Amino acid sequence: MSISKNIKIPLLFFLTSFLATAQDSKFAIALHGGAGTIRKENMTKEMEKQYFEVLQKALDIGFKVLQKGGSSQEAAVLTIQFLEDSPLFNAGKGAVLNHEGNVEMDASIMYGKTLNAGAIAGVKTIKNPILLARLVMDMSPHVFLYGDGAEKFAQKFKLETRPQSYFITDRRKKGLEKYKNIQKTLKKSIYKYGTVGVVALDKKGDLVGATSTGGMTGKMYGRIGDTPIIGAGTYANNATCAVSCTGSGEFFIRSAAAYTVSALMEFNRETVQQAAKVTIGRIGNIGGSGGLIALDKDGNVAMEFNTDGMYRAYRTSEGKKYIQIYK
Ligand code: ASP
Repeated sequence: MSISKNIKIPLLFFLTSFLATAQDSKFAIALHGGAGTIRKENMTKEMEKQYFEVLQKALDIGFKVLQKGGSSQEAAVLTIQFLEDSPLFNAGKGAVLNHEGNVEMDASIMYGKTLNAGAIAGVKTIKNPILLARLVMDMSPHVFLYGDGAEKFAQKFKLETRPQSYFITDRRKKGLEKYKNIQKTLKKSIYKYGTVGVVALDKKGDLVGATSTGGMTGKMYGRIGDTPIIGAGTYANNATCAVSCTGSGEFFIRSAAAYTVSALMEFNRETVQQAAKVTIGRIGNIGGSGGLIALDKDGNVAMEFNTDGMYRAYRTSEGKKYIQIYK
């Protein structure tokens, strides 16, 4: 009798640890490339194809990292870096222009395991702003650096820089012209979006949220949006979810949007989908527009927006895969 007891205990231990590992090894990644007036009738077949291809590639980059057992931080940063290098999106190369015709970029990242975070704003020469945000998180005692100070910090780590001409594309120049004309004739501001963001869950159960942007076309000098503000544009907490937002940043700041999703889950016991919906609803109520992606600790994905479309995609270890642009 004592022998069978001796066997039962290790067997039980083996079974529970096996089940725990099987459960912990779920992983997932979701990304966005901005929300806004994205309508099928305004999109050429060629453009549509390009967007789908780039979203697919970006998704593969992050998913492969997670599949190999890489960290959610690595997956998120590599995916965002790829999107920053693509001129299609409003981040890194192809970032939108401010009122003076210059590029000023913002980015942030948050790690759900430690609640550590890094953010930068108003950088003008950093090729991949997300790399700098991560360095602020890992290598500085601070959370948020802006402007010249952020650029100086990047020099210490020999981050790649580029002249303004690298970031500025013809499409964004036209965008600024159009913006100024509309503003003159309609006397109101019309903004276009295209920020990039990633939320990832790795096999260890660690969540990350990361976002990178050029901000909004025609923005004032020195304007900082929601993207680099932890709790507004980006948030992550292993106990709840990871979030990345896109849209009219001022409204996302005023709503503490990304943190609200997490708080609704933590304090109200809402699901990630409910929490995302309520948050976008609240932004709409005060006149804001845009969207967000969120991923919970069990790999459930939410993608909510109140605009015509949002470039978005996700893939989970359970075989769910989705890429879409329009509503
Ligand atoms: N939220 C960004 C900002 O306000 C813009 C965007 O998402 O496109 O800077």
